[in-house]
Amino acid sequence: MIAPGMSTDSLAERLLAGDRRALARAITLVEDDRPEGWELVREVYPHTGKAAVYGFTGPPGVGKSTLIGALTKAKREAGRSVGVLSIDPSSPFTQGALLGDRIRLTEHFLDRGVFIRSMANRGALGGLSEAALQAALLLDAAGRDDVLVETVGVGQAEIDIIDHADTIVLVLMPGSGDSIQALKAGVMEIPDVIVVNKADHPLTDTMVREIRGVLSLANLDEPPGGDATAAGRRWRVPIVKTEAAHGRGIDELVQRLDEHREHILAEGTLQERRGRNLRNEVLAIATARMRRRLEEELREDADFQRLLGEVVERRLDPASAASELLAQHQR
Ligand code: GDP
Repeated sequence: MIAPGMSTDSLAERLLAGDRRALARAITLVEDDRPEGWELVREVYPHTGKAAVYGFTGPPGVGKSTLIGALTKAKREAGRSVGVLSIDPSSPFTQGALLGDRIRLTEHFLDRGVFIRSMANRGALGGLSEAALQAALLLDAAGRDDVLVETVGVGQAEIDIIDHADTIVLVLMPGSGDSIQALKAGVMEIPDVIVVNKADHPLTDTMVREIRGVLSLANLDEPPGGDATAAGRRWRVPIVKTEAAHGRGIDELVQRLDEHREHILAEGTLQERRGRNLRNEVLAIATARMRRRLEEELREDADFQRLLGEVVERRLDPASAASELLAQHQR
């Protein structure tokens, strides 16, 4: 329940004014899938769309948190306010308590210009990915200039989460063949910027060459030079070498991220990308709600039990059972 004297209205107002406690409370509401949370997002949504949202993914241990710490420092020096969302879809821990400890952002904990939050709650209605987007919207509404969303791992769940970002950064480190494999297998669309962190490692240049190889293979599929009219100038994915732990390469990363933002603004792809992401978002929430509704309707449904019984006894195949189910429950 919302505490007395803390109506959704005043929470929205305080959030829009950038109040950190209101922001923390609001994120908890969406994370816990509370109706007040969705109501709040509804209220503040017209004020969103101003923040630059960056998504970071990559295998555990490559240095994403360290990198985000270094990037946050650079952004703060440039006078920008920062929101960090660290999301672990594989974590069994709710509220991301352990993850919070893991984040190497301790030097920013006292800076009011930095808001850090980890999420690992899987209970949200539309799934963690939807809760993460809602949280990013709340950070945006609260006036954060830059929102950095970090996920652990390069699986589909992680991709779904950072897919909402305006700029997607894949973080790798030398000697980790797994992620190159993932890139090759097309587990994720080619990211906008690739970072090879721990560039103090002797295999760094080998890694960079391997990534270039994968990228150029992918580029061969595109018309050479790009189509200036239809597709606009094509973005060439930069590979940035960093040593996050020592703050090296961060200036270049900031520059590449700025260039990507300029590029998507100039080409109109930011609007296009956001439109596509929002479409997916609406569908994902609608699908989740339909599924939940159907499950609730079927919980005590004798006809459904009978139908399932027929499937189990091999008298009816699963697809026919699904068709029958939909025919009965369509409205
Ligand atoms: P994450 O799991 O991807 O978020 O990785 P972390 O940021 O937690 O970093 C994992 C480990 O790598 C930590 O011990 C960091 O100190 C270390 N690390 C981060 N950046 C560098 C770097 O540039 N060089 C080296 N050698 N170690 C680094």
